Amino acid sequence: MAHPDVAVDVLIVGAGPAGSAAAYHAAHAGQSVLLIDAASFPRDKTCGDGLTPRAIKELHSLHLAHQVTSRYRNQGLFLHGYGGDVQAPWPESTFGRLGSAMKRRDFDTLLFRHAQQQDGVDTWENAEALSPQLYAGRIEQVEVRHGGEIRMVRPRMVLVADGVRSSFGRKLGRQWHREQVYGIAARAYCTTARGDDPWMHSHVELRDEQGHLQPGYGWIFPLGSDEVNIGCGALSTAARPAQINTKKLLLSYAAQQREHWQLEPSREIASALLPMGGAISSVAGANWMLLGDAAALVNPLNGEGIDYGMESARLAVELMGHTSRVREAWPRLLREHYGESFRLARRLARVLTYPQFLPAAGPVAMRGIGGRVLMPAAARLMGNLITDSDRDLVARVWHGAQRSLGWVDDTPLWD
Ligand SMILES: Cc1cc2nc3c(=O)[nH]c(=O)nc-3n(C[C@H](O)[C@H](O)[C@H](O)COP(=O)(O)OP(=O)(O)OC[C@H]3O[C@@H](n4cnc5c(N)ncnc54)[C@H](O)[C@@H]3O)c2cc1C
Repeated sequence: MAHPDVAVDVLIVGAGPAGSAAAYHAAHAGQSVLLIDAASFPRDKTCGDGLTPRAIKELHSLHLAHQVTSRYRNQGLFLHGYGGDVQAPWPESTFGRLGSAMKRRDFDTLLFRHAQQQDGVDTWENAEALSPQLYAGRIEQVEVRHGGEIRMVRPRMVLVADGVRSSFGRKLGRQWHREQVYGIAARAYCTTARGDDPWMHSHVELRDEQGHLQPGYGWIFPLGSDEVNIGCGALSTAARPAQINTKKLLLSYAAQQREHWQLEPSREIASALLPMGGAISSVAGANWMLLGDAAALVNPLNGEGIDYGMESARLAVELMGHTSRVREAWPRLLREHYGESFRLARRLARVLTYPQFLPAAGPVAMRGIGGRVLMPAAARLMGNLITDSDRDLVARVWHGAQRSLGWVDDTPLWD
């Protein structure tokens, strides 16, 4: 017998950090929610697993921060390369001074199960949103393959949190502008005796087996267990694609770090793309909005997107409570919240795609006064840990640059 259609206030497509956070917030706003994911949990997601204070702040709003930080806490970035080693502790800010890291298999399952426990949330795993049926720009029905069966869902609102490739978002007209900067990256896990080191390590000078400088950076993020997440990434544009094989580079980076970190062989090597800096068009329609990676909500300067995914979920649910005209309101709200900082970050990241830049700037930035003063400030900018209310010198320079760029930059930003 065919299943009846399902009517629901909010259908959420994708149960990564953005989708599960959206389900939690929508349920607490009194909505009935159906949260679906093509996978079943626990499932892996290719990621560095790093959580900056911005992510921890968002976990507080989900009442999950303690569960994450009680397992492991880190205290900032530790940058290496070009003859310097610079510690940049998380700065004093409204985001707090705690970071963490958790394998995405565990983190996403924690968020998903938490969403599932909220009153008003129904969940389907192994449920892929296939196609939207639109009438006058509104999604009237969504066809979902759940297990072996086709189900019809009739939602009032659809939040699309289906990740970097956003196959469902593309059916709604999403366009990704790869002439803007984007990331390519690979990660693996290694067993180590140093998995409780309290810093997120980043190597800004990356060399291949022959010692040739590579256009990328490496990271080692301890997980507070007997493992680290090790990875490497590079920034790319359609005009200047990064000419590296990230998986191969990851293996030679791991070999270089093996002795110092007492690393066992790398496991679960995987690579993926990162959409960045809001370089997406068509992020909303009459009754739908894109969230998280689907809307390229990833910081171009450090590749973090877990925090922006969860933030965008909260903002979208708040917006639904204020207006039904989300087609115009959602891109406007994203531009107000992130537009200036993402535009500036995109510009700076673009400079990093020039092969001449890092070899020239790296030694100045990492040694002597550069290391003591410049890099801690840079780490704060890279993490987007400056708020509108910050008034110190670094914050003023950053705000001034953002405002000036806003007047001259007309590249696509959630247009
Ligand atoms: C190598 C790498 C390292 C990174 N390191 C970090 C880091 O250290 N810190 C950080 O903050 N960010 C990092 N990021 C970015 C981060 O992984 C993403 O920004 C984040 O996962 C975005 O969350 P999301 O919920 O938008 O999407 P996702 O986590 O990708 O979740 C999307 C979900 O949608 C589901 N889905 C897809 N299509 C459908 C469909 N049609 N129907 C139903 N379900 C569907 C998928 O199964 C998936 O579960 C990294 C990214 C990469 C590639």
